[in-house]
Amino acid sequence: MRAMVLEQAREPLRPTDLPVPEPGPGQVAIEVRACAVCRTDLHIVDGELAEPKLPLVLGHQIAGRVTGGGERFEAGQRVGVPWLGFTDGTCRYCRSARENLCDEARFTGYDIDGGYAEHVVADERYCFPLPDGYDDVQVAPLLCAGLIGYRTLKLAGDAERLGIYGFGAAASIIAQVAVHQGRRVFAFTRADDEEAQRFALELGAEWAGGSLGPPPEELDAALIFAPVGPLVPAALKAVAKGGTVVCGGIHMSDIPAMPYELLWGERVLRSVANLTRADAEQFLELAPRVPVRTQVETFPLEEANEALDRLRAGNLRGSAVLLL
Ligand SMILES: [Zn+2]
Ligand SMILES: [Zn+2]
Repeated sequence: MRAMVLEQAREPLRPTDLPVPEPGPGQVAIEVRACAVCRTDLHIVDGELAEPKLPLVLGHQIAGRVTGGGERFEAGQRVGVPWLGFTDGTCRYCRSARENLCDEARFTGYDIDGGYAEHVVADERYCFPLPDGYDDVQVAPLLCAGLIGYRTLKLAGDAERLGIYGFGAAASIIAQVAVHQGRRVFAFTRADDEEAQRFALELGAEWAGGSLGPPPEELDAALIFAPVGPLVPAALKAVAKGGTVVCGGIHMSDIPAMPYELLWGERVLRSVANLTRADAEQFLELAPRVPVRTQVETFPLEEANEALDRLRAGNLRGSAVLLL
């Protein structure tokens, strides 16, 4: 089968002919139709997440059709494969409904070969039926940008005035959910990125502007999706007393030293790590009711390096999706 393989960090993915993987016990075999590119993929390629299996097939936003294996799905059924690929079910985190923090967790496209390939095998317990009303390309970004974005939003509690920093794939999905929930959305982008600001306003944000400037009014919570540490003090400064700042990415540049005053007033700063299966079930049920629309740009599998370069350069609107 055709696959794009990472052999070493900081090197381009290499087109490779791999054997079609065979499903083991409890695994389902999937023919990949579409796989969305995530910023995490970029962090892996760039060596910022240091311990991937190598060689590695990236890709953890997989939409495909079951071809065999397992007991949970019928052949031909459409399923999605997200980042969370395995948990032990027994550690203190798994036993307290926090399998996203599992000590033994394994991740698709990091510890396990992912969807930058024509076929993939996955533990069937971590696969999900995909909602109708989306084609494979449109649904793929829901599997990480959507799921992790949704968990980030949940950790902001019931905040009414919501700031969203970094208006890429996750933000564009979660802004739609937040507006649907009756929240007021304020979008923060690079000061000169008028196109992103226009995009945010189209999706229902009531204000869009530069991320280091003040918001037009105090926020109750802020979600940070850009991997930029200096946004942390900026967002803390923008939230009201008791407000929460949630960092939704797996990696961020260093956070600059800041005065305690920015955290004072019972402000909360926290990160989001991974997802639970319950997050996925809730979000995939909610998305078609909003309905969340994804904006995508498609690339053939062989152009995965170009897709990653465009994401790195920040000139993608919405998600890059590899078409198989
Ligand atoms: Zn565990
Ligand atoms: Zn991801």
